Amino acid sequence: MMQTLSNLMDGRLVEPVGGAYLDNIEPATGRAYSRVPDSDERDVNAAVEAAARAFPEWSNAPAEQRCRVMLRMADLIEARLEELARAESIDTGKPLALARTMDIPRAAKNFRFFATAILHEKSELHVTDRQAMNFTLRRPRGVAGAISPWNLPLYLLTWKVAPALATGNTVVAKPSEVTPMTAFMLSGICIEAGLPPGVLNIVHGAGAKAGAALAAHPGVPTISFTGGTRTGAGIAAVAAPMFKKLALELGGKNPNIVFADARVDEAVAVSLRAAYSNQGQICLCGSRILVEAPLYEEFLERFLRGATALKVGDPLEAGTDLGALVSAAHYEKVRSYVRLAREEGGTIACGGEVAPRVSERCAGGYFFMPTVITGLGPQCRTNREEIFGPVVTIQSFRDESEAVELANGTAYGLSATLWTRDLDRAHRVADRVAAGTVWVNCWLVRDLRVPFGGMKQSGVGREGGDEALRFFTEMKNVCVKLVDG
Ligand code: NAD
Repeated sequence: MMQTLSNLMDGRLVEPVGGAYLDNIEPATGRAYSRVPDSDERDVNAAVEAAARAFPEWSNAPAEQRCRVMLRMADLIEARLEELARAESIDTGKPLALARTMDIPRAAKNFRFFATAILHEKSELHVTDRQAMNFTLRRPRGVAGAISPWNLPLYLLTWKVAPALATGNTVVAKPSEVTPMTAFMLSGICIEAGLPPGVLNIVHGAGAKAGAALAAHPGVPTISFTGGTRTGAGIAAVAAPMFKKLALELGGKNPNIVFADARVDEAVAVSLRAAYSNQGQICLCGSRILVEAPLYEEFLERFLRGATALKVGDPLEAGTDLGALVSAAHYEKVRSYVRLAREEGGTIACGGEVAPRVSERCAGGYFFMPTVITGLGPQCRTNREEIFGPVVTIQSFRDESEAVELANGTAYGLSATLWTRDLDRAHRVADRVAAGTVWVNCWLVRDLRVPFGGMKQSGVGREGGDEALRFFTEMKNVCVKLVDG
């Protein structure tokens, strides 16, 4: 029997009002294995009402009380690490090892980080010429909407939910309908941890229906969205006339710039991870590799050797480097970009095709070989548009200024990586590359305290650390006249 998932509404697991469900497909097999609520406006309205009812008490609770329940949630996520990681691997197609070492531990960390951050809050005070003092009062904004994507489902959902709850907001979350399982399991954890009813409500369903109803709801003044640039633009268009506060974390086409003086072993090894982790479905993946001309041939040869050695396999099996792409539609999109690359005159240096059958169990799965495309210039769509799969391009550049020009040659600006041993150059290029995060001689090293977000079409607003705590709070200046004399 297929498992049927429920919404979390006012502290209870409930069916969607309309009784409709969507199939949830296991990407490694192509078969439906659970049913997810196909919620609509009625479910969203009920969730917002529950969140609004819960707001006064939760927002006025002492920080320590909110902290304690959130720490219990973190503990429960860690206690269920294996169960959650397996569920996430089945739901997304990603290797179990990745879910176990990255997504799930980071979800627990999100709760722990923001739960304890609120215990150390400070507020600013400005004295105006001995006449008055101004202090900044921060209050939660009310019901926050959290809309999250499928690539790192529990990690990115909790990255929004944790700071919102910590600062005293209540939340209606809409996880991706493509990967709902770990958010559903989080519902049980909320109940077990004793999170008061209505503080977090999780409404499953399609973006165009449940997601759109949440973004448009007048009772939700704050929206934190992570997903595609086009979806983000649509949400901004709906939210702007209602003056909602928005954080949009969108797509990327991130340059990975390798200068000739780089430590080549390390640059190749980490560039391979940056290209193919989670089948290339991480917004921060280095999908455009730019190599300084004297190193180009050597780098390409070594990168190809590494890429062809990666094992595409059953996500649940140890030793699998790449699992399945998330859905049939996404698989088609990735394949269409490889066709486009060929039409644009690119050379498929490796991969470029669906993987040979990885196992009997996975015969119907969406497996694609790690792919390298060469010979395409910066104007090609292949080099400008986000593919979000195990497909990278490699181009060469002559000097530093051409590297910066190529790096900045897309509409995106999410992240960049530089490989060089020249410290002066690292600082210069980091300053000139338009990207919200620049890694020097590393990739995906994340510190929850630093502001995170994109430039240009990769988004607006910053999440992470103090920025997230500020995002979910309303600032008020209180100006008090000082006693004369
Ligand atoms: P998506 O935009 O299709 O969906 C994201 C979420 O929005 C889902 O929950 C979806 O149901 C919902 N949604 C879809 N249409 C909506 C609408 N009209 N109104 C409201 N909600 C709607 O993105 P995806 O395919 O799930 O995720 C992949 C994208 O996410 C990639 O572009 C990737 O780069 C981006 N991403 C960005 C970051 C970042 O931090 N910048 C992180 C991860 C993923």
